[in-house]
Amino acid sequence: MKPGKTEKPGKLYVVATPIGNLSDITNRAIETLASVKLIAAEDTRHSKILLQHYGINTAMISLHEHNEASRIKKIIGILQTGSSVALISDAGTPLISDPGCRLVIAAHEAGMQLVPVPGPSAISAMLSVAGQSVERFCFEGFLPSKPPARRKQLESLVSEDRTLVFYESSHRIRDSLNDMKNIFGSSRGCTVGRELTKRYESLYRGTLDEVILQMEQNLHSVRGEFVVVIAGAVTSSDDSVEKGRSIMDVLLTELSVSQAASLAARLSGARKKVLYEYGLSKKGT
Ligand code: SAM
Repeated sequence: MKPGKTEKPGKLYVVATPIGNLSDITNRAIETLASVKLIAAEDTRHSKILLQHYGINTAMISLHEHNEASRIKKIIGILQTGSSVALISDAGTPLISDPGCRLVIAAHEAGMQLVPVPGPSAISAMLSVAGQSVERFCFEGFLPSKPPARRKQLESLVSEDRTLVFYESSHRIRDSLNDMKNIFGSSRGCTVGRELTKRYESLYRGTLDEVILQMEQNLHSVRGEFVVVIAGAVTSSDDSVEKGRSIMDVLLTELSVSQAASLAARLSGARKKVLYEYGLSKKGT
């Protein structure tokens, strides 16, 4: 059906669903999923369990990272006929490390009305219990899977003073925590949340060293889904810059400015950029 001139387009609802416990869903999410014409779901077989649980019979189509581009046209077409569509992902809030961003942008560009139906997300659930500062935080999503790229990404965050939040899978949790310990230092504060809202929900909190030890002592601790929260770097004080400069003086006799600044920053706690600039000025003299 082509849109009539006076026909109002439908709405695209972006609906949060549970991250484990099926009871964690809002009344409004249930009403919305039951009333729209179509649900675009990351994995229709997975979401069928949730819909059946709540007696919702709305038709579904899949929308995942491999078909999102081709689904956009179809969904915008449905909205233009005046029917509404809901977007959901396998768990939590769509678009948060999940597909949907291209659809949302395309819907805005086509002049459609977007409506959030908020609810669970592993990031907010975890931050609410992590026991780390939440005043300013920085969500990094998943780290790169290849170790060199992962370490490079972590290196770039060494001086970040906001609390850091990462999503992690069971395959990589151990390696990622060890890389974090080597790069951020073993005494950096950390909380790991595992299987939040599910049967084997656990929290491990302490320094990176302590958390790694706690997890090693629990055989099952590396199974499931994880959120890792790392305390932000303590801002360099004048003392740490002073210490960093002394270390630079020694390292610069053997290493490049970049290598020396990187090492001196880790040893002193001063910002790498500050030490790098110091190194450049020394080399120029
Ligand atoms: N859209 C989801 C959200 O709003 O949190 C995230 C989807 S992302 C593909 C899946 C990742 O989120 C998992 O690998 C894990 O890092 C995190 N996650 C999801 N559910 C979780 C849970 N129940 N406990 C701990 N972490 C979870």
